[in-house]
Amino acid sequence: MSATDDRHLTLVGAGLAGPLLGLLLARRGWRVDLFERRGDPRVHGYAGGRSINLALAERGLNALRTAGVDADVLKQAVMMRGRMVHFREGGEQLQRYGRDDSEVIWSISRGDLNILLLDAAEAAGVNLHFDRRLESVDFDAQIAHFVGEGEDIAHRFNALIGSDGAGSSLRAAMLRATDLGERVEVMPHSYKELEIPPALDGGFRMEANALHIWPRGDYMCIALPNDERTFTVTLFMPNEGPISFEATADGHAAKTLFERDFADAVPLIPNLVHDYDANPTGMLATLYLDRWHLDGRAVLLGDAAHAMVPFHGQGMNCAFEDCVSLASHLALDRDLASAFAAFEAERRPNAAAIQAMALENYREMSDRVDDADFLLQRQLERQ
Ligand code: FAD
Repeated sequence: MSATDDRHLTLVGAGLAGPLLGLLLARRGWRVDLFERRGDPRVHGYAGGRSINLALAERGLNALRTAGVDADVLKQAVMMRGRMVHFREGGEQLQRYGRDDSEVIWSISRGDLNILLLDAAEAAGVNLHFDRRLESVDFDAQIAHFVGEGEDIAHRFNALIGSDGAGSSLRAAMLRATDLGERVEVMPHSYKELEIPPALDGGFRMEANALHIWPRGDYMCIALPNDERTFTVTLFMPNEGPISFEATADGHAAKTLFERDFADAVPLIPNLVHDYDANPTGMLATLYLDRWHLDGRAVLLGDAAHAMVPFHGQGMNCAFEDCVSLASHLALDRDLASAFAAFEAERRPNAAAIQAMALENYREMSDRVDDADFLLQRQLERQ
């Protein structure tokens, strides 16, 4: 396969950022090939493997607006007006994000969003290639090797764009060719997802239009609503210590922990023991790079460039902003190396600031949202 003309771009990874970027580029006249290691979720069902739903905020929504898909996305999303704090001693309190429903965030299913963006990218003319995993790159010859079901492909590229997530294979290939100044900080906490099914009457079992939080100091639960009337609960806990994943060895131990510290959630999660045993424990890390591009031949964006911990709910939102930024730098009449450098100069400080806020927000979410003095101070800051 050959794609060497200078209006052609090859994207690696069709998760959240890949299809949005493909859509924006195709609309601006670029020829785009987008390779994804997984099968087509529209045929095989979604196999994302982590965080079933996501908080979509104004930053991300604005990018979707630029691509003209915001209305379709919001049709499948559930509005979250604020945090519903569940106190240890019982009772709950809604802390609104803004003064009215113009200042809200949205809960959206990762699978639904992925499929919607793939459909839109394909309709705009992006060539999608599923079951094709980037294996290696020869930057001198400008050939990328993809493997998967069927024939392996040697793909001649003009430039590669890495939207292949935190474990990016393109980043690994770039690191073999140049020093990107990579640093990874693994958090001493991990997460596990559980499910609150619909009520017997088919409705939600708790207030639907809120992001629920059970803050308990160094550990916490959150729950986001799904449009099929379920909630995805995420338990965040230290890896080691008296209350930790190590100390909570199985579903029965988890049930004991929940009965003590998240008592009002226990009747809502009928399959707690099963979910805890069956679902994987996910690790959390922050990725820092000093450089995001290799001259005009390759550039990284989204989690591949700046993976972050999820406590500010901004990883996807930030990845979507990257897409708009990169597409607009590429629209200016300049060579690819200059466009990639300008993109990096604009977005790298921004991503670093959001990464720092995400780490800081863990303390606020797990420890301070039920602290009356802290809340009063926050209220005063807002005025
Ligand atoms: P991804 O969505 O990870 O997509 C990467 C794609 O590349 C995948 O489809 C993968 O299969 C593919 N791929 C990987 N390797 C290869 C290869 N070698 N060849 C071809 N394809 C490949 N963000 C928010 O904004 N709001 C939230 O509420 C939120 N909650 C989160 C909760 C948790 C528990 C976690 C872990 C993250 C959360 N995030 C949230 C962050 C968000 O999930 C990521 O920032 C977002 O998915 C990044 O998008 P991406 O397109 O860069 O990467």
